[in-house]
Amino acid sequence: MKVENRKTLIRIIPILLAVAIAVVICQFRFDFIESFLFDARIRLKPTSNISNKIQTIAIDPKTVDSLKRVPNVRDHLELLKQLQIAQAEVVIYLLQPNELVGSYEELSAWANETLKFKHFHVAIPDVYMKSEEDKFKLSAPFEKINALQAPRTSDRTLFAKDDVTRRMITSYQGRLTLHPVVGALYNETIKDEKNIRGLFEFYEANQTYIDFHPTGTYQAQSFVETISQGLTEGSLKGKAVLIGRDIRSTVNDYIKTPFSRDVVAMSTLEMHANMLDTMILNSAPFSAPKWLDQVLTTIISILTLFVVLMLKPSKGLVILASSVLVFSIACFLTFWTTGLMIGMAHPFLSIFICYYFFIPYRLIMENRKSWEYYQKNKLLTQVEELKTNFLSMMSHDLKTPIARIQGMTSIVASDSNPLSSRQKEALATLDKSAEELLQFVSSILNLGRIESKELKLHLQSKDVNSLLEDVVSKLEYTAQQKQIEISTEFEPMFSMKMDVDLLRQVFSNLVENAIKYSPPKSKVLITTEDRNGKAVIQVADQGMGIPDDEIGHIFMKFYRSKNSKSSTIKGSGLGLYLAKYFVELHHGTIFVDSSLGQGSTFTVELPMDLTDET
Ligand code: ADP
Repeated sequence: MKVENRKTLIRIIPILLAVAIAVVICQFRFDFIESFLFDARIRLKPTSNISNKIQTIAIDPKTVDSLKRVPNVRDHLELLKQLQIAQAEVVIYLLQPNELVGSYEELSAWANETLKFKHFHVAIPDVYMKSEEDKFKLSAPFEKINALQAPRTSDRTLFAKDDVTRRMITSYQGRLTLHPVVGALYNETIKDEKNIRGLFEFYEANQTYIDFHPTGTYQAQSFVETISQGLTEGSLKGKAVLIGRDIRSTVNDYIKTPFSRDVVAMSTLEMHANMLDTMILNSAPFSAPKWLDQVLTTIISILTLFVVLMLKPSKGLVILASSVLVFSIACFLTFWTTGLMIGMAHPFLSIFICYYFFIPYRLIMENRKSWEYYQKNKLLTQVEELKTNFLSMMSHDLKTPIARIQGMTSIVASDSNPLSSRQKEALATLDKSAEELLQFVSSILNLGRIESKELKLHLQSKDVNSLLEDVVSKLEYTAQQKQIEISTEFEPMFSMKMDVDLLRQVFSNLVENAIKYSPPKSKVLITTEDRNGKAVIQVADQGMGIPDDEIGHIFMKFYRSKNSKSSTIKGSGLGLYLAKYFVELHHGTIFVDSSLGQGSTFTVELPMDLTDET
């Protein structure tokens, strides 16, 4: 396979895997996590609207305490009379009439009173199949009362399995339950069940989520206070009144809610108020479509993949955490403002799964890369070693023949037979070439010593000015040949510790370069001064200067500027590299100021307090 194709494949495979992971995750339901996040959104909802069309009346501990019993049918009759006065629009009894205590006549009187209301319903806490029509018929004397199914649901064996009530049934086998029937009296829209927001089918029932409000939102009026103090005329006009129990005698009268897992978190009376209000306001939370869940999960999977494979772990985690935060905030905000429930479980799980799936993949890739680097590095080190060994071996072997040439030239030069001027000239050239060769060889040898870390400082006390004088006097002849004038301005200085050989090489190289790269008849100025405990040596020339883009490179190994490479000026490109190395061995610095065509000034700063230990 071509390298290009392989690279594309290596990029595409993880993306396909991320998409596959997202698709697989979305096939599973994570009801517990989803319900937990649903509850969090309900709990943290900053505001909640109610219709104010509902009034609850509770047989509460106060009622039982003051009557010294649960209310009997006479009390219930009185309640109905009060509700008549208050002009309640709808009355819903959550208590079963056959549980009322009283004589048959009293029960009949109560039953007749119920018929005076336009809308009076008894809520049956169950659902019945179509064939069980009879179960809706209340026995005499309540046979004329309209009974409607008003079941409660809890996630006991299904969904989150935490026994919390979150949903309500709006119809079973096509028959509407109490809440949509009564809700439709207040809200025309839901007359057609299909218009109920968030409706979903579950087996034979249509259901929706309850728009829960915290316990206490629907403040119940005490049963006993209602009958003893009476209700003002028209005070419940247009309202739906729910009558139920809240005496904490049985847990069946209570539910767990998204707000609290306490077994008596909310009375069923208040639960029915929440259910009815959900219908009146048609405000049931509704789930986002499946495709949106799939799309979001896929996007987040791919993002996780990108983070894991492309970014540094710390940066990746920050990006991932902020994306999760932004996504969560967006989910919460949409829920609070529109009631839309965007699934959060699948995207969150995809992050974890993709993260743990792709981390090993990344490790394998990185391992492979570092192995390749290691191999390359090994090869390079071997080549470098070979080169250095070869260079130093060769240089070593060259030293003896050069010395011999120099020896021979001096013998011939000092011979008693007089030499012709051409012969003398030839001898001088021979001697100069041998000297250049020797310098080159010793540079190479020095390089070898540096690279094998053999080089150690041999410190001696010496006055830097006298060292510079030595250097100048050695190079005087070369300068004269180009008619270059070397002048010195030395500040008197104390002797300081230095490796005389190495620094001689440094200064020789600087002065030699100043001569080499300057035109004939120019000037070279060498200065020294004591500046803040440092010996500062400067070699300034009026030569060709160094172009700006090359100035950063001239201290590199084997670097020669373009100008010098194309000119006849000879050099190895090692002089400044070695000079920098030697100066730094002395804990000093070397730098250059130069302007093209005007000249260069090399500055060496050396500490004057160098000791053997440093
Ligand atoms: P070389 O053997 O080429 O002189 P160096 O390491 O001594 O090697 O110098 C590196 C390069 O720096 C030279 O090739 C030259 O281009 C530039 N250079 C050094 N000194 C001077 C100077 N005084 N004036 C102009 N260019 C210089």
